[in-house]
Amino acid sequence: MAMDYQNLLKEVFVEVQGMNLQGEVASYIPELGRVDPNKFGIALVSNNGDVFTVGDAEEPFSIQSISKAFTLAMSYSYLQQDLWERVGVEPSGSAFNSLVQLESENGIPRNPFINAGALVITDIIMQHEAKPLDSILDSVRLLSGENTIGFNKKTALSEIKHSSRNKAVSHFMKSFNNIHSRIDKLIEVYCQHCAIEMSCIQLAKAFQLFSGHGAKVSFPGEKLSVSQIKRMNAIMQTCGFYDEAGEFAFKVGLPGKSGVGGGIAAILPGEFSIAVWSPPLNKKGNSLKGMKALEILTTKLGYSVF
Ligand code: GLN
Repeated sequence: MAMDYQNLLKEVFVEVQGMNLQGEVASYIPELGRVDPNKFGIALVSNNGDVFTVGDAEEPFSIQSISKAFTLAMSYSYLQQDLWERVGVEPSGSAFNSLVQLESENGIPRNPFINAGALVITDIIMQHEAKPLDSILDSVRLLSGENTIGFNKKTALSEIKHSSRNKAVSHFMKSFNNIHSRIDKLIEVYCQHCAIEMSCIQLAKAFQLFSGHGAKVSFPGEKLSVSQIKRMNAIMQTCGFYDEAGEFAFKVGLPGKSGVGGGIAAILPGEFSIAVWSPPLNKKGNSLKGMKALEILTTKLGYSVF
């Protein structure tokens, strides 16, 4: 598809900036509440490697739950199809930090992106790696081609101090034998990988793993097959935005993953990967401007996975 992506990004940016959208920066992780709410950037990487940007696309921010797409890929490369014995692939229809379904479903989280599922995924990485955080960072660095990527210690500590709910979820799953690590260590690694900081450009580059069907970027560990990439994209489409996954599919029509740092990374399979960042969130914890930008982008493009 020949496309003037640079001009498209500019148009989308200007249109969204003119909309006066009002959201709330996440403050339940106190350190996240300190970010400048006016930041707004977009980066698009076409599958032939061209990079297009607008706004604050080079500034690193807290990727939070977007990290769960990378940890999912790692755990899938270790366990292959056995992964699905520990975590499901159904949308939850509940908030990202909800515990309600866990009891009736015997400690098997609905999907890898709600916090319960992401904690199981982190546990799997801890079972396979002596230095799990270093391995996650190595993978993200390899995928984005940038070895400067790290995590913000303050943000991680800030979340660790406010992690009663994630601890409760973890203990509960441990009672069903679906968590094997020590809970304090698990929460530490989880909060550290959520506190990884990346720019829109770096995120879009790393998401080439998903838009390029894994063909161009090899993943460390066992190589992920085209079919495995397809499955992860399907989970991003159905579960990447928690209880707003339907809305995102309806308005944007791309598989993607959001984080409470205000980032969204999404892909058009076979064409491009894209990352948007704007910290103010809507009530479901997804970036308000980020969603709007992607909605306008696919509308102008006249093209989505649908
Ligand atoms: N670290 C955050 C948490 O566990 C991630 C949530 C998110 O980005 N949706 O609450």
